[in-house]
Amino acid sequence: KCEVDWIEGRARLYPNAVGVVDADTGESWTFEQLNNRAIRLASYFQDKGIRKGDRLGLLAPNHISYMDFLFACMKLGAIFVPLNWRLSQEELSFVIQDSNPSYIGLHSSFGGNHEWYENFAPLIHIKDNEYLNTMGSGDVGPFQVMYEIEETDSLAMIYTGGTTGKPKGAVLTHQSIMWNALNTIVSWNLGRDDCTLTCLPMFHTGGLNALSVPVLMAGGKVALSSSFDAEQAVLDIDRYQCTIVLLVPTMYHMLVRTRAFEQTTFPSMKVFLSGGAPCPFGVYDAFAKKGVQFKEGYGLTEAGPNNFYIDPAVAHQKKGSVGKAMVFNDIKILTSDGKDAKVDEVGELLLKGKHTFSYYWNRPDATKNTWNNGWLHTGDLARQDDEGYVYIVGRKKEMIITGGENVYPLEIEHWLESHESVNEVAVIGVPDEKWGEIVTAFVSVDEKASITEDELRSYCKYKLAGYKIPKTIVIVPDLPKTDVGKIDKKGLLQQYSVS
Ligand code: ATP
Repeated sequence: KCEVDWIEGRARLYPNAVGVVDADTGESWTFEQLNNRAIRLASYFQDKGIRKGDRLGLLAPNHISYMDFLFACMKLGAIFVPLNWRLSQEELSFVIQDSNPSYIGLHSSFGGNHEWYENFAPLIHIKDNEYLNTMGSGDVGPFQVMYEIEETDSLAMIYTGGTTGKPKGAVLTHQSIMWNALNTIVSWNLGRDDCTLTCLPMFHTGGLNALSVPVLMAGGKVALSSSFDAEQAVLDIDRYQCTIVLLVPTMYHMLVRTRAFEQTTFPSMKVFLSGGAPCPFGVYDAFAKKGVQFKEGYGLTEAGPNNFYIDPAVAHQKKGSVGKAMVFNDIKILTSDGKDAKVDEVGELLLKGKHTFSYYWNRPDATKNTWNNGWLHTGDLARQDDEGYVYIVGRKKEMIITGGENVYPLEIEHWLESHESVNEVAVIGVPDEKWGEIVTAFVSVDEKASITEDELRSYCKYKLAGYKIPKTIVIVPDLPKTDVGKIDKKGLLQQYSVS
């Protein structure tokens, strides 16, 4: 028996409790079935010579195969590499070559071009939920581990969002994933009655580690949805009596505008969580109007992702705050001269805890730059108020210096978003000979609105100091998004060639 294999423990304690439901087909699996599926897959891979440290890739929409592969890797000591199906062929080829998996699980929805994938590794064809049936027959016995698997061994490699550059494979150990889950379980009081709906892609830490793994570890239920449809998500939340759900702000932007949202009171929900990017305040207000708890979270692939907790009852008064460090982790904010930031002073956010990642695959330099004495540099700026609540101010790289003044895009984005005709905003610094950078806002507005750039600039004058008011405002039909639905600032610059 292997001590890091908690799915085996769950199956022992609650064999007949349902752990996962496929929201597309309605099929469900108990913890015993989840464990047996993982044993079958792990045994297959072990027979094929897969050993500790080998990588196993998976290219699939949200599907039971994520649990099969993750739990099989947990038993085998192999490293699970979920692959981002939204990448271009060139990007995907980079990620596959970088991680060099021994096998790739290929879901039939991407199988049209399977010869291309076969160039990299042998394939496991995943046609439906029964794909494991061809791997050995009859009952599965306990899995025989061939070697010790330690908490500090690698379990998963998740490629970062790529919002700021080439994706990097962040290697997470059994310990990272376990402590992120324990931290989340203890902070949100998760248990067997909890249920989450996972429609964030599971190749990303938000879909895999933020809630799916913690809810399962707590003995609760995960409903998997292979795509995001805002109307359907609301219906599924009520149908599965979900208690806790995480979405990115863009998804909330759509969700609060649906008919289904208007019609429900979300009777089962304890809290909605937003993460991955700053959340517009209008979303907070839409939930507050319904009397439903809503909270903004902050995380990153390299740290859990979960790091902060805020009592949802306080969250609305502290709009924009991600809260305080969770039970089992620590944070600090350092100014550019390396001192602890004072109250409300902006500095870089550093994180510490057993939930953090271990290293970037094949990237020793990037790894070295990220760690300092056990503290993980997030590259994000934050401040803490006099009661200890933390506010994310933005990415360090995105801070704009215009005429020698520091400008944090988020402050401007939040203000412009509060205009009734505005849908979404992205503020960027565009290089300029005279000012160093000039503040440029891309604004998507309501179809029916006839707002002009000058009107938006006048609106800024109520609230923002002159140097923060965007010199250029570009009104666009829609803002481009990254693979996980964040506003893609890099893409915006390319699309509108303002740089
Ligand atoms: P890459 O690291 O490849 O550039 P990425 O930064 O988007 O991509 P992720 O791990 O997906 O990688 O996202 C983590 C980042 O998302 C954080 O470092 C932070 O910049 C941003 N983020 C997460 N939550 C919030 C939030 N509540 N407010 C503002 N930014 C957030």
